[in-house]
Amino acid sequence: MNTETTEYDVVVLGGGPAGMMAAGRAASRGLRVLLIEKNVVLGKKLSITGGGRCNITNAEFDIRTLLKHYGKAEQFLYAPFAQCGVQETFNFFTERTLPLIIEEKKRAFPETQKATDVVRVMEHYVRSNGCVVRTGTAVRGFEMNGDSIIGVHTSAGVVNARAYVVASGGASHQETGSTGEGFTWLKKLGHTIHASNPNLVPLIVSEPWVKKLSGTVLPKVSISFKNEVRKIKKQGDVLITHFGLSGPVVLNSAYEVKEMLEDGMVQVSIDLFPKDDIGSLRAMFQKLIEDNPRKTLSNLLKSWFTKGVVEAILQSVPTDGRLTMSAMLTREMRYMLVDRMKNITLTVTGTKGLDWSVVSDGGVDLKDIDTRTMQSKIHPNLYVVGDVLHVNRPSGGYSLQLCWTTGFVAGNSVCV
Ligand SMILES: Cc1cc2nc3c(=O)[nH]c(=O)nc-3n(C[C@H](O)[C@H](O)[C@H](O)COP(=O)(O)OP(=O)(O)OC[C@H]3O[C@@H](n4cnc5c(N)ncnc54)[C@H](O)[C@@H]3O)c2cc1C
Repeated sequence: MNTETTEYDVVVLGGGPAGMMAAGRAASRGLRVLLIEKNVVLGKKLSITGGGRCNITNAEFDIRTLLKHYGKAEQFLYAPFAQCGVQETFNFFTERTLPLIIEEKKRAFPETQKATDVVRVMEHYVRSNGCVVRTGTAVRGFEMNGDSIIGVHTSAGVVNARAYVVASGGASHQETGSTGEGFTWLKKLGHTIHASNPNLVPLIVSEPWVKKLSGTVLPKVSISFKNEVRKIKKQGDVLITHFGLSGPVVLNSAYEVKEMLEDGMVQVSIDLFPKDDIGSLRAMFQKLIEDNPRKTLSNLLKSWFTKGVVEAILQSVPTDGRLTMSAMLTREMRYMLVDRMKNITLTVTGTKGLDWSVVSDGGVDLKDIDTRTMQSKIHPNLYVVGDVLHVNRPSGGYSLQLCWTTGFVAGNSVCV
């Protein structure tokens, strides 16, 4: 195996958003930086974020409010976010001619609505600062001299440096390159690693009828998940898929539902009219029928719902919506339809697992990391950033902001 003669100041392991930010920042400080990525391109996962639009951060500029979304990591993240927070993310991309726009729930996207533009900006940041980029090269682990890290083994030989930044990502969507290898290396180095678990992951249901309704969005509904010991209730948009449920509110509930599944199946109830009680909804429906006596039931319901939602309501009602005239509906049937609008029931049997999860939980215990620098407390020439850290967070741009912040802090602190 070759041992490279060139000495670098810093080797960054992994060319995702956190690695590119760390490498670019370190190189901008005049350090000799090598970025190693096993894919042939940088930022493969970054290029599919936000459905290809990249929810780049969350435009919550109040650090206290923002950090409440990071669960147990809240305290740990104060110091890094004070160095590089949401405002800095806005400034960074705007200065590089990629201004951001803010949508619902403060989710920020590049104005161009293209994740590939974010990859382009980051790659340019890395290369224009003189960082050497080596793609198509896999890291295999660290070279040690006693307890000290002196190099990294790669598919192209050993590389030596003064410091190393682990930015190899988590274990979700492994086809993008994030295969969780960093956890193995760091465990060997004495770090505490929490097991990877799918988080922000779609849910599988047992009812086969969902297949026919794949792609249907149930907007602004209330959804509750219940088993014998626990009940959680949330509001938001639900997406029906060919296997079950997805969409923001489902992904953000998945962590708790996963815990509930340990006690068996979980019952779901979806309320399409969370703001109306059953009495007022019955009255509204009665009025709709009186205004449209000659419409078929299907067409009547289409005055209120999209075609897919109409199907979802009708699938468990004992009448053919295409034939039944609305004026012919019995009181019992009207009440049953309204009940269905307030309570579409499903049974969750599992999650779609790591391959489908937006982020995976697990990673390096934050107790092992210096909050001001992202430096390992065990190995002073080692830094850890991005998804490799054990930080639980919801969807909405919080994951990428964690990458920009921790990547910047490591790039700013390394070899000081
Ligand atoms: C479908 C999807 C949509 C998402 N959308 C959003 C969103 O809109 N907003 C948001 O905030 N978050 C989103 N996320 C989460 C976000 O993408 C991740 O949090 C982020 O990519 C983590 O960045 P990272 O740099 O830590 O790791 P990664 O992006 O996983 O990058 C790690 C890199 O290291 C490389 N690597 C791994 N092992 C090795 C090795 N042995 N040798 C060399 N290289 C290696 C990998 O190939 C990879 O390129 C989404 C995730 C998914 C899967």
